[in-house]
Amino acid sequence: MGGLKETIYNKMPYPFKFVLLNIKGYLNKKQRYNKQFESFLKEYNTLWKADIATIKTYQENKLGVLLLEVLEHSPWYSSIMKNLGITKTQIEQDPFNVLNKMPILEKTDRKNNVQALLNNKRETAMVGHTSGTSGSPTLDYIDIESINASFAFWKRFHHTIGIKPNTKQVRFSGRLIVDAKASKPPFWMYNYFDNQLLMSTYHLTENNLASYIKKLNAFKPKLLDGYPSAIYIISKYINKNNLKLSFIPSAIAVTAETLYDYQREEIEKAFQCKVYNQYASSEGSPFITECTAGNLHLNLDSGVFEFINIKGEPAKTGEIAKLVVTSFINYRTPLVRYSIEDTVLLSNNKTLCSCGCKMPIIERLIGREDDILWTEAKGFVGRMDTAYKGLEGIIKGQIIQKSPTLIEINLETDALFTKKMKTTFLNNLKARLGEDIEYQLNTVDTIPLGANGKFVAVKRQFKLNF
Ligand SMILES: [Zn+2]
Repeated sequence: MGGLKETIYNKMPYPFKFVLLNIKGYLNKKQRYNKQFESFLKEYNTLWKADIATIKTYQENKLGVLLLEVLEHSPWYSSIMKNLGITKTQIEQDPFNVLNKMPILEKTDRKNNVQALLNNKRETAMVGHTSGTSGSPTLDYIDIESINASFAFWKRFHHTIGIKPNTKQVRFSGRLIVDAKASKPPFWMYNYFDNQLLMSTYHLTENNLASYIKKLNAFKPKLLDGYPSAIYIISKYINKNNLKLSFIPSAIAVTAETLYDYQREEIEKAFQCKVYNQYASSEGSPFITECTAGNLHLNLDSGVFEFINIKGEPAKTGEIAKLVVTSFINYRTPLVRYSIEDTVLLSNNKTLCSCGCKMPIIERLIGREDDILWTEAKGFVGRMDTAYKGLEGIIKGQIIQKSPTLIEINLETDALFTKKMKTTFLNNLKARLGEDIEYQLNTVDTIPLGANGKFVAVKRQFKLNF
């Protein structure tokens, strides 16, 4: 749902919302899980266990198909390729060589030229709206094959972590599913067709958390998924109050935000099950998924991944790199060498994963490019979660770098946050970011959520050449 439809939905009373959401749920299910979906899922499950040569051949074939389509049917790419002298024969002979010749597509170029980018061989089955932190939303036109393929990759991920089809699940996402001003439960809504309870991420205040736990205990989900920041708030409440849950989920799958180690620890303690991280995007980027051995696998059958370091060169092992993706799950608005402005840490060793999957692994998903801070003394600092280690009394923290020499920190605290804690925290920050910086520490009642209801833990507000 987007735009006007969403505005109308938000104004409806709860029973109407319930009916509308379930009609939508029914239509979605019919569209997503058809015969083509089934055949993709079978194919992807086989590829997860295949040898690396088979996976790479599959990837090369898929890349060839994509490049041929954009050459013939996407005016944007067609004109670039013709200017570069790229031909059908070259693509058929060596698609990777052709890909290397293509320029990188920047986020703003995609947003501003989406009509020219469209691949006219495919029809639009759905239009998505991605609202960023500022400005108008980005439109995502998606075809039916790509929808089916995306859901098949998502279900393959579930399959690899032991989640069965039609599992009872709870989702925490940025959708406003109940009235934003509601002060009494329900803060959730049940989607019958997906056996899914959608829980609001906008009502997770101290006063409401007991009713969330009560509902979770009654519903007993086997899977929880969505924003780690939301599941973390609930987990912290469970742990702090020594609450016993009446169920143990099989898995918790988080996505859309950076997952920090302290969140993982708290969530796994509260729910007594493993957390799995997953990278995907509304633009239809290829998938990166965590396996049962705790490693992040590049799903090579969903696209091509390239890694560029801060010097603009191909990144080496152990380096922080920005992600450039070519996707096999968005044919209608093709992504060929798309700079998605997310960053990862590459693995130091290239050893195979013990889970048996031969797809390559990376060390860590770092997050948005502007999640990375920069100071004269320390250079790029990609992880700030460690600055909170061993501290008590901080409910939520947000670190905003205003300039190379000014950092603002907003904290939601409780009685445990003493003067001593404050000093320790400041020392932790100085150790990571340098001494010659002004640190402005504000204690606030609430830290507002960012775009799409995501929690912004770290943000750099000035541009860097990354
Ligand atoms: Zn693995």
